[in-house]
Amino acid sequence: MSDLGKAIAARRTFAIISHPDAGKTTITEKLLLLGNAIQVAGSVKGKRGPHATSDWMSMEQERGISVTSSVMQFPYHGRTVNLLDTPGHEDFSEDTYRTLTAVDSALMVIDGAKGVEDRTIKLMNVCRLRDTPIISFVNKMDRDIRDPVDLLDEIESVLDIQGAPINWPIGMGGYFKGVYNLYTDVIHCYTPGRGGELPEDKRIEGLDSDAARELLGGDYDDFLEEIELVRGASHAFDLEAFLAGKLSPVFFGTALGNFGVREMLDDFVQWAPPPQPRDTTSRSVSAADPAFTGFVFKIQANMDPRHRDRIAFLRICSGTYSKGMKMRHVRLGKDVKIADAVTFKAGERVLVEEAAAGDIIGLHNHGTIQIGDTFTGGEDLQFTGIPHFAPELFRRIRLTDPMKSKQLQKGLQQLSEEGSTQVFSPLNSTDLIVGAVGQLQFDVVAYRLKDEYKVDAIYEPVNVYTARWVHCDDARKLADFRKKAAEHLSVDGGDYLTYLAPTRVNLSLMEERWPDIEFRATREH
Ligand code: GDP
Repeated sequence: MSDLGKAIAARRTFAIISHPDAGKTTITEKLLLLGNAIQVAGSVKGKRGPHATSDWMSMEQERGISVTSSVMQFPYHGRTVNLLDTPGHEDFSEDTYRTLTAVDSALMVIDGAKGVEDRTIKLMNVCRLRDTPIISFVNKMDRDIRDPVDLLDEIESVLDIQGAPINWPIGMGGYFKGVYNLYTDVIHCYTPGRGGELPEDKRIEGLDSDAARELLGGDYDDFLEEIELVRGASHAFDLEAFLAGKLSPVFFGTALGNFGVREMLDDFVQWAPPPQPRDTTSRSVSAADPAFTGFVFKIQANMDPRHRDRIAFLRICSGTYSKGMKMRHVRLGKDVKIADAVTFKAGERVLVEEAAAGDIIGLHNHGTIQIGDTFTGGEDLQFTGIPHFAPELFRRIRLTDPMKSKQLQKGLQQLSEEGSTQVFSPLNSTDLIVGAVGQLQFDVVAYRLKDEYKVDAIYEPVNVYTARWVHCDDARKLADFRKKAAEHLSVDGGDYLTYLAPTRVNLSLMEERWPDIEFRATREH
């Protein structure tokens, strides 16, 4: 294999999916600690972190949310790990969904006391769209959690995926003693109070040993029985089923105690897939293709007030980026020389010299890049599968100062291009309707319109229940629908025809009445 081939095959690009408070931030920090990317615990920008670098971030902090996301890269056991952070708050779930299109695997963190929670279910469904392999970490073993057997059952039934325990916990809460690896026959012993450092790996070789008997004491026989039961009743790990997204290896541990995370990461970097092929409008692109290709899955505004620009996050799908190279911005049919792509190290931007398939680079965006855009070394292809989701909340925007209409248009256009909101212009009026998945998203839009575009506006309730993108191959039928349903039709920020249904009942009536028209809940680039 060539050096480039080896470098690409060593990449592991993943994101963490979890319900808020399950421990995503904590485990991220431990992963970085293990990867030597940070020296001490507590230096990861958490939800309430001290790193305000812009007005925008001060808003995030006031509200205790993290809406920005970044990329962390670290070497581990001969692999290059790319961890993509996702916003914690569910009002920004669309960002998270799109980030999941840019990874090759995901780590699912479950709070052992709470089990599978609804946000995890939703994110899991998004992963399933591409059969993304999932590794599971049941967290908070240092607390009294639920029966591990029940948790395993819940993962299987609620998430509809086979669970293969790799290790099994010995006790929990105050009696948590460690985990027993079902495959290596090694007990990793837990020492409390070591979460802030890289814990030493205190192990006992073999369950059938004096040391194991001593550790387990009076519980030894019960534990042997439990292990028998677990082996008999659960699925065995199967790499192929894992890579097909049908089986998830399950690890137990405590992120806060930095225990079990290393064991999980050791296996994860071995098993998780290297950069996977991706579909385009013309062909499937394999990561090993020498020509550079990539797509933009996220645009982030004003991460740093010293540079009042926006960063477009691009996932490299094949080939390499090297500083100063020429890229084709396919949608615009334009070739551009890029010498200032960046990456992110501990929250700081750094210039990238070289990056390979599987890596994420940040491109400076001065208003020309949109989510879903493809960049190549010259070929005209377009990656597919980067979704927009139908918003769930809608508001009509009224300007308080009519002179600011141009700024409003510009602001909304940019905010919709970067996926911060969706904008709809009704066919029959001059109104502007914005859509979002959550209330907080409106607040951010209002804040940014005022802060960045100096637009004061009122956001009025509007009678829209949901949006559906309209599709029909028959031009005549589409024209007829357009005429008859004009009252509820809009075009969105990407110029796509959209039906804004006033009620759920109205939507089902329309679907019945117009069987040839597709009402799509997502739109893809
Ligand atoms: P996120 O919302 O998923 O990012 O969750 P955080 O990482 O911020 O964790 C939420 C809370 O759970 C914090 O108070 C953590 O200190 C706590 N926590 C995380 N992992 C553990 C763990 O293993 N054990 C215990 N007892 N608490 C934990």
